[in-house]
Amino acid sequence: MAQSKTFYITTPIYYPSGKMHIGNAYTTLFCDVLKRYKSAQGYDTYYLTGMDEHGKKVESAALEAGLSAQDHVDQIAEDTKALWSLMDIEYDDFIRTTEKRHKTVVQTFFEQLLKQKDIYLGHYEGHYCMHCESFFTETQVGEDHLCPDCGRPTQILQEESYFLKLSKYSKKLHDFITENPDFIQPESRRNEVLSFIEGGLNDLSVSRTTFDWGIKVVSDPKHVVYVWLDALTNYVSALGVLDQDPMLFDKYWNGDEVLHVVGKDILRFHAIYWPIMLMALDIPITFKLYAHGWYMMKDGKMSKSKGGAIYPEPFIKRYGLDAMRYYMMRELPFGGDGLFAPDAFLERTNFDLANDFGNLLNRSVAMVNQYFAGEVAQKNAQTPFDTELEAKVEQTVKTYDHLMDAYKPADALGEVFSLISRANKYIDETTPWVLAKDPAQKDVLEDTLYHLVESLRIIGILLHPVMPEAASQLFDYLNVSSDHQTFESRVFGHHPIYRVAKKVTPLFPRLDVEKELAHLKDSSPAKKAPKIEPLKDEILIDDFAKLDLRVGVVIACKAHENADRLLVSTVDLGEEKPRQIVSGIAGHYSPEAMVGKKVIVVANLKPVTLRGELSEGMLLAGSNAKALEVVELKTLNPGDLVK
Ligand SMILES: [Zn+2]
Repeated sequence: MAQSKTFYITTPIYYPSGKMHIGNAYTTLFCDVLKRYKSAQGYDTYYLTGMDEHGKKVESAALEAGLSAQDHVDQIAEDTKALWSLMDIEYDDFIRTTEKRHKTVVQTFFEQLLKQKDIYLGHYEGHYCMHCESFFTETQVGEDHLCPDCGRPTQILQEESYFLKLSKYSKKLHDFITENPDFIQPESRRNEVLSFIEGGLNDLSVSRTTFDWGIKVVSDPKHVVYVWLDALTNYVSALGVLDQDPMLFDKYWNGDEVLHVVGKDILRFHAIYWPIMLMALDIPITFKLYAHGWYMMKDGKMSKSKGGAIYPEPFIKRYGLDAMRYYMMRELPFGGDGLFAPDAFLERTNFDLANDFGNLLNRSVAMVNQYFAGEVAQKNAQTPFDTELEAKVEQTVKTYDHLMDAYKPADALGEVFSLISRANKYIDETTPWVLAKDPAQKDVLEDTLYHLVESLRIIGILLHPVMPEAASQLFDYLNVSSDHQTFESRVFGHHPIYRVAKKVTPLFPRLDVEKELAHLKDSSPAKKAPKIEPLKDEILIDDFAKLDLRVGVVIACKAHENADRLLVSTVDLGEEKPRQIVSGIAGHYSPEAMVGKKVIVVANLKPVTLRGELSEGMLLAGSNAKALEVVELKTLNPGDLVK
């Protein structure tokens, strides 16, 4: 048997800044759909996704949550995997940049590039926010030079940094893109990248000394590798590029097709930094890039910080996974932006799925039962309507393949639904209920119903990559064995006899749009009474009893040497020795103000080290967007229990 062609597809690795929203879900689903399509086509496929877990922001978010950075990213990775499993994403590997298999590769690449002088030591200058301990670019801080995260004034600071020599490879990359016209899609994006290169490339800062949460530079460990050099490497580290016997790498990276799918906001990094890194490392550039647009909300771009993001879970839980997968794939045109609007979602579910597709299946199966006791075969009673329908099926399969091969699932779905409405029209044209009254037309009627179920079988195969659940239900109702669900079997007449189910439960129940809109509005956190956090899951008294809360007195307090937001308190809990507790309260209390406070301490919290200081517990505090107050007691003594 001939060896299958290979197809390696990747999402970007996602930054763990919170729950994954529709934007990340779209990219991940897009790759899942293409992987399923290519697998059906006979490709040997490999699908990689994962998390980009390093950086200053992760470190800070973990501090705020009172967790070690590793515990924090572990939690988000689990939540993310749970969402992909809810969405039935069939990825083959989930890489995390905190894994050893990845770190080793980044460190080796860095040293190699340093040795061959493609990386050199210099100085990075930028707008620095003391509070957030982060550098920002000119564009990020705007005219007033304010921190984009906290709004405080920034100052220009210099820091020692390693740089990757982008400039050296600029011409070579420009040539590569010109010689490979399908390297970047869509074409408009390719032109954007070319003119960016023509504007001149600055060398890229690839290390930082202002935070620890990253991969250490082996030969100069006060530096950690900064963002892109770390993140982009995942596409080959996951394949074991440096393994003694790099089986996956040889097979998939150097295989037949490699596709990186990215949002248009990170195209430049993938179209410029990544190929230059590969050129410098002497690794072949085998991939193609597809940059998709964004889902917008009615009032503009989705933004987590403004509370304006849509999450997939509520839609999946209420309307089923396939309705959601269908809408997400259908509404975003190739390379462009789309609108994610709940009313449009409900209408598409009703019109396309419940009415057109669902009804076609219901009516067809009902008629096969009514007129032929559930069993029909292909007859030699071809009418012009039949010929026309067969031609439409054949043409749809062809166009669908062409569009899917060009990464255009939205258009491919459009073709399938045009076939579905053609098949519905075929019922009106052939009027089976009239044929049924004339015994002389028995064969014509049977052939008509055969044409309907045979079309439905092929429709099921075409919809399978996007709606796997609905397709497999359809195959069950039509009693189609798996060898008639294949890519090759998408030929009219391939399945000659049908014995269908007695009854079909509608695949997509019709929704009351008004009622559902009201429901979605009520359950959307953004639309609720402002600033009230949703309640967490219910717990039992036993869960609460696991917390050991004690009164403590702050006997000393100082600023954390390596973190502006942290105070390091010495707290007497009535134990033999006072404890050291690190808290993110520096913006709200001076060290002096803390001394003497009677506080409540979570005394059985596992100790962690926060930016080099041991923290043996946590102080309770209340907070909102503006203020933070440490909870205080008046007359109790150190060690007294709080229950
Ligand atoms: Zn700031």
